[in-house]
Amino acid sequence: MSALTVSRAAAQAQALGLPRLEAQILLLHAMGRSGHDRAWLLAHGDDPLEDEVQTIFNSHVQRRLDTEPVAYITGQKEFYGLTFQIDKRVLDPRADTETLVEWSLSCLADTPKPQVVDLGTGSGVIALALKHARPDAAVWAVDASAEALLVATANAQHLGLSVDFHHGSWFAPLSGRTFDAIVSNPPYVASSDVHLQALKYEPLSALDSGTDGLDDIRLIVREATHHLQPNGWLLFEHGYDQAHAVQTLLANQGFVNVQSRPDLAGILRCTGGQWPTVK
Ligand code: GLN
Repeated sequence: MSALTVSRAAAQAQALGLPRLEAQILLLHAMGRSGHDRAWLLAHGDDPLEDEVQTIFNSHVQRRLDTEPVAYITGQKEFYGLTFQIDKRVLDPRADTETLVEWSLSCLADTPKPQVVDLGTGSGVIALALKHARPDAAVWAVDASAEALLVATANAQHLGLSVDFHHGSWFAPLSGRTFDAIVSNPPYVASSDVHLQALKYEPLSALDSGTDGLDDIRLIVREATHHLQPNGWLLFEHGYDQAHAVQTLLANQGFVNVQSRPDLAGILRCTGGQWPTVK
């Protein structure tokens, strides 16, 4: 038994630079407890930490200090009130992406049994959150990464939600299909962005999108015109400084009601438009 207590261990991790919440989540994980047990930590602050737990915790703190996402260390992440299994085969889902889910749901509110597709689904968070909120929807999800689809299908099974997963690049597996909403959090970081180095643990194929970070969005805007119902919506998440560029791409392609939505930090993070009835 070491002399280190639960509260001292958390304090040491914070002193090394981890935010309190992350230190608590990693400590609970090292003890085999749920991240929801933060009240337990407070009540058991004076408990001694077993050597084995301390070793695991120290190694996880080091991984986090090296910028590995907490979700990869604990193997899970909460998104839109659901728990997802996450690992390095997929992007670590951001809370900001909940903006895209909420906006999609409001666009579909008056459409019974909507047909929806999530392009570049990764771990499946968007598609599965939509299906959970709208059980009457037919939800498709596409990813070019077969490994990501393994994560997404495992999440679907675990959550008991039925989504139609397809392997392929963007619209390739959706030939002849049209949707009430096409939703996507595609790669949108410019290849030269220094920010990419800070994201070294996440799959580059989920992040990098050419010189200006808009290669994938440009392609999807062009192709989406063949896959939308009249009045159907195309909604994107994009980079912090891309709202204007994405609005322009949509308007130039003939989309109407083009508009943007802010993320949790108030940054215009999502942009979309509607495919008109008459073109
Ligand atoms: N939001 C991620 C970031 O940290 C990027 C995700 C993406 O490219 N879709 O920049």
